[in-house]
Amino acid sequence: MSEFPDCPQCGRSNVYADRDQWVCPDCGHEWPASAASEEAAGPVVRDSNGNPLAAGDTVVVIKDLKVKGSSIPLKQGTVIRNIRLVEDDPEHIEGHSDKIKGLVLKTQFLRKA
Ligand SMILES: [Zn+2]
Repeated sequence: MSEFPDCPQCGRSNVYADRDQWVCPDCGHEWPASAASEEAAGPVVRDSNGNPLAAGDTVVVIKDLKVKGSSIPLKQGTVIRNIRLVEDDPEHIEGHSDKIKGLVLKTQFLRKA
């Protein structure tokens, strides 16, 4: 690891590595180095509350949504199990409801269950 991140708490760059953690000597903040590298791997997908979503998560639709190519609207409260993330698109996830298969949904209308 040659690239040291800036401290997410105070923004200073005197950060050093302590085993598997980053440590900021300026404000004393410590955080796991593995989480930092995970986030660098790709955009983080977040639900309407800002909670990170991962493949396999269950989400709930928070408002009625029209579905392209379907006359059935997706009702508020519909549960989508075992979601898949869309590569390079953190604003959408894919999944199936009980009635509609192959949905692509905006994460801003979803809440992690
Ligand atoms: Zn700091």
